[in-house]
Amino acid sequence: MGRVSFLWIILCALVCGIISVWAAPAHAAVIHGADCHRGASLEATLNTVRADSKGWICRSGEWHTGEPAAWLKFDAPADPFSAQPTELFLRLAQIESIEIYSIKDGREIAYQSHSGAAIRPADNGPYVAVPLPGTGLKAETFYVRLVGANYAATGADARLIHSAATAGWPEHYTIIVGAIFGLVCAPLFLNLTLFPALQRSFMLYHAGMSLGMLMTLSAASGLATGMLGLDTYALVTLTEIGYVLIVALGGFFAATFLEQGAISPVVRRALKGSGLLALVIAGGIAAGIPPFSWLGRTIFLLAFFPICFASLAAMAQAVQRGSLWVRYQIAAWTPAIIVGLDMTATGLGLQAEPRWGVLAPFLAMGFEVVVTGIGVAHRLVLLRRERDDAQSEARILEKLSERDPMTGLYNRRALEDRIEALHKSGHDTFALLDLDEFKQVNDTAGHGVGDDVIRVAADVLQSDEHSLAIRLGGEEFMLVMKGGDAPDRAEQLRKAITLRVAREVDGLERLVTASMGLAVIPYSAVPNSSFEDLYALTDKLLYEAKESGRNRTVSQKLRAFRKRAQDRRSQSRASRAA
Ligand code: GH3
Ligand code: MG
Ligand code: MG
Repeated sequence: MGRVSFLWIILCALVCGIISVWAAPAHAAVIHGADCHRGASLEATLNTVRADSKGWICRSGEWHTGEPAAWLKFDAPADPFSAQPTELFLRLAQIESIEIYSIKDGREIAYQSHSGAAIRPADNGPYVAVPLPGTGLKAETFYVRLVGANYAATGADARLIHSAATAGWPEHYTIIVGAIFGLVCAPLFLNLTLFPALQRSFMLYHAGMSLGMLMTLSAASGLATGMLGLDTYALVTLTEIGYVLIVALGGFFAATFLEQGAISPVVRRALKGSGLLALVIAGGIAAGIPPFSWLGRTIFLLAFFPICFASLAAMAQAVQRGSLWVRYQIAAWTPAIIVGLDMTATGLGLQAEPRWGVLAPFLAMGFEVVVTGIGVAHRLVLLRRERDDAQSEARILEKLSERDPMTGLYNRRALEDRIEALHKSGHDTFALLDLDEFKQVNDTAGHGVGDDVIRVAADVLQSDEHSLAIRLGGEEFMLVMKGGDAPDRAEQLRKAITLRVAREVDGLERLVTASMGLAVIPYSAVPNSSFEDLYALTDKLLYEAKESGRNRTVSQKLRAFRKRAQDRRSQSRASRAA
């Protein structure tokens, strides 16, 4: 199955999942939302807002965040047989304080104030539950005063309920978020484990984004409430820091993930700069670090605007320039951008409630991570392939440039590059071999037979485990040998050439013999010998062997090149082939 069709199957599955979740009934245990609401100054008391009947809005919608305090009015069910509400249920958000007044027969019968820090997060879903005062007194009306509620949605979504246990998310929401949580863990670990080998900075940024998503998912979904026992303030902080990591590192990710030529240097800098801006300002506000924490909610949201514009510019430019990787970015971020705009519009008070429901941000996040993860995996596969191709090319080149194609032996260049290292590692015996009267072989038996003779000779020479055989050219070879018995082994190899050629090569009229010049040069005695020094010495010895009748070895043990004349104890060991 092609990679593209595989991608489409995943995309379709996710889209189907999203649609089915949106279609599912969400808030089964709701008694009802606020009947009326209004904004007010901080000084306004219950009596003043009740007296000002014109200030109340008793239709759904028309939420605004202009005033610092929001008042909600709930009418309890008039039917005496229906269950009385026990708790106020709100979306998880930063709230300074909640005050609740219970009213019966037009009079205040109970009152309770909760500071933001004391508000208990609900066990299932991104909600908080606050007990209603005077439960059992059959209050007719509840007035709720919210101070420092960040989003109009907090008020719009407020409900009276019987029991927090049944009012949160339906079970399958939690399962879905848990599944997304698992999904997001995968790229985090994959990026971190593969980074040491592949060393691409976009892998770290993607890991950081995944971490941000895990923070947001666990906090905003309520998964962290049970596990970590965090309070509302900590959960909201975790959610927002998570969002900052996702968006800010998303800019750095795009800047490093897209192909080098896909975006201009200006756009690349804009992505990184605006990412840094979001990280510092929105991150500082979310984490409550002064002076950023004094900047407030609107600045928090506005800090994301530059990175959004830079991302859009980068995507447009990369599409225009035919980038492959930008397609993954567009596919990954489209749902998140739609949901993000929706949430931002809510946060700025342009609409009362996010259009896409409470699960949408999580689904969009999961979608982003999966699609980006596929893009990263695709990129890494290509990177590995490129690297493997380069390596095998290098290996072939190494062979082409270092090996003699006819015999497979190393060539002169390979030896020149390695001679010092070999000598240092104990290869102290150097033997230069040349086949005798080889022109005649060519002349009488033909060039093809001559080639066969060279191949067999090469095969004989490379049969010794502790030596390196090199074809220097024509029918001339060098052995670089290790071990105290190297001269003897070299002599055996020289003789073996005659025997094996006689056995394996047809069409020869006479035996093929070889002459050899051999020098033993301990590294300690003569360090730093060059190939030229060694070749000159062994060639001289070989010449002597040829001169003294061929099919023989002339050898020498050396203590130093300079004192060559005095130290030379050359001995001629003639050994005629039988
Ligand atoms: P000597 O014993 O004194 O070395 O005599 P020789 O005839 O072997 O003389 P020399 O080494 O100078 O000649 C080498 C010959 O080997 C010359 C060339 O025609 C032949 N030759 C060189 N390379 C190849 C090869 O790859 N294949 C074949 N068949 N012959 C080669
Ligand atoms: Mg020769
Ligand atoms: Mg020769």
